[in-house]
Amino acid sequence: MTESFMPAGMPLPQPDPDSPDVGFWEACNRHELVVQRCSDCGVLRHTPELICHECYSFKYDWHKVSGKATVYSHMNVVHPVHPALRDRVPFNVVLVELSDAPGIRMIGNLVECAYEDIHIGMPVEVVFEDHPNEGVTLPLWKRTDK
Ligand SMILES: [Zn+2]
Repeated sequence: MTESFMPAGMPLPQPDPDSPDVGFWEACNRHELVVQRCSDCGVLRHTPELICHECYSFKYDWHKVSGKATVYSHMNVVHPVHPALRDRVPFNVVLVELSDAPGIRMIGNLVECAYEDIHIGMPVEVVFEDHPNEGVTLPLWKRTDK
């Protein structure tokens, strides 16, 4: 990617070191996509939680996934919900289902794709956008069928 998707002045995620999602953001900084996995029953989950919704275990680790996914749903944002987005709209928001973690879905921005070209089931893959000044890397999505 050549141009930053996130405009200057846009607040970015500020991972709380005590939050269960800190491992997710640390992996993004390494350009790896991970989902939380229960250490007791093995169920995968996203968004990260403190407790397993299947067996109530507090133990978990991080499972690296390929970053390949398909579009499950999508929308086009036309109203700038933050002043920094005034010149960014319209932009795409997608809900994707991970190809190697069935049932796990993530929300993100789809870049470099016209809204009218998006379709349910469209293959995408994660791309990472570094924001070193803020210490965070954002996972974005890009189509792979063109
Ligand atoms: Zn469990």
